Amino acid sequence: MIVEPNGVIGILGGGQLGRMLSLAAARLGLRAHIYTPDENSPAADVAHAVTIGDYKDAEKLNRFGGAVNVVTYEFENVPAETVDILAANRVRVAPGGKALGIAQDRLIEKEFVNSLGARTAPFFAVDDLASLEEGLRKVGRPAILKTRRLGYDGKGQTTIGAGDGDLAGTWDAAIKKAWDEIGARPSILEGFIDFAMEISVIGARGLSGEIRCYDAPQNIHKGGILRRSIVPSPAPASAVRDAIAIASNMLEALDYIGVIGVEFFVEKSGGVIVNEFAPRVHNSGHWTTDACAISQFEQHIRAVAGWPLGDPRRHSDCVMDNLIGDDAARWLELSREPNTCIHLYGKRDSLPGRKMGHVTRICV
Ligand code: AMP
Repeated sequence: MIVEPNGVIGILGGGQLGRMLSLAAARLGLRAHIYTPDENSPAADVAHAVTIGDYKDAEKLNRFGGAVNVVTYEFENVPAETVDILAANRVRVAPGGKALGIAQDRLIEKEFVNSLGARTAPFFAVDDLASLEEGLRKVGRPAILKTRRLGYDGKGQTTIGAGDGDLAGTWDAAIKKAWDEIGARPSILEGFIDFAMEISVIGARGLSGEIRCYDAPQNIHKGGILRRSIVPSPAPASAVRDAIAIASNMLEALDYIGVIGVEFFVEKSGGVIVNEFAPRVHNSGHWTTDACAISQFEQHIRAVAGWPLGDPRRHSDCVMDNLIGDDAARWLELSREPNTCIHLYGKRDSLPGRKMGHVTRICV
């Protein structure tokens, strides 16, 4: 089960997370083999091997599976079929299909979190205009309508405001507008949480069952996209403790191997509510590369390779800022800043909303 130095870690997905996982693997003397449909992927620049293939191409997947010691993934929308094809060939996939299946469907995800005794926003399954209307009466307004599957970075969601539909004759139109905006797909309606702040827990579970969690950063989002993570967060210590306990329960319940990212809302009362989890390394854990001896990327590679987990303690306070779209054009100016670690993902085209890199400013 242990992947020894010179072994190969297969990674499904070739984005920046795959790139940073590949770099961490290389530092441990392991090799990364990326599997991606994308001809120009950020991970391919730094990996040992790359297979360009569709996620449903059984022949290519089988060859890939035969060339690696374990397979992991860097994005949660890997089709279940991909994992099934690999598993049918006795390729070990970590984290397993269970975490992937739950994280891919917001309804199942919320039910899973509640089944562990942890709280979520109030939610209601929406399949048509009638259930959306019923949902709005149940969870109230403002509310957020989110597609059950394939949403990320604020995509696939729309807000229904407190007063939307209040004017005479506008109720039906407001409902229809929201439903059309998310593409009339199976969704959930979430009650709006008036949170004090958002935090996340980056945790890991190893092959032996050991669990290690990093300190929880405060996360600031704009337009549904993470902009900044601050560690330590100003959240009450009890909220951070509760969030870590919930993330640990989730790791245990999922029989999870690898790094997980769990996002929380902290209420004004100090209570914590789970927003969502990602079965992979997480943007709000990028600071760990520069402020901890063992980064989330190395921790994930250690876990899936069956190595002992590393110490997640933070040696410095820091602030991580994403470089989104044209932010990355400031690379020269940023590279002159003292105590600033600059990470660029090697993406060729800068588009609005595209994550091009990040900087971690170490507080000294
Ligand atoms: P998500 O894609 O579900 O993580 O949503 C992106 C961001 O939208 C979150 O990080 C929050 O800032 C905000 N958001 C999502 N759901 C809610 C909610 N139920 N109440 C308040 N804000 C939310």
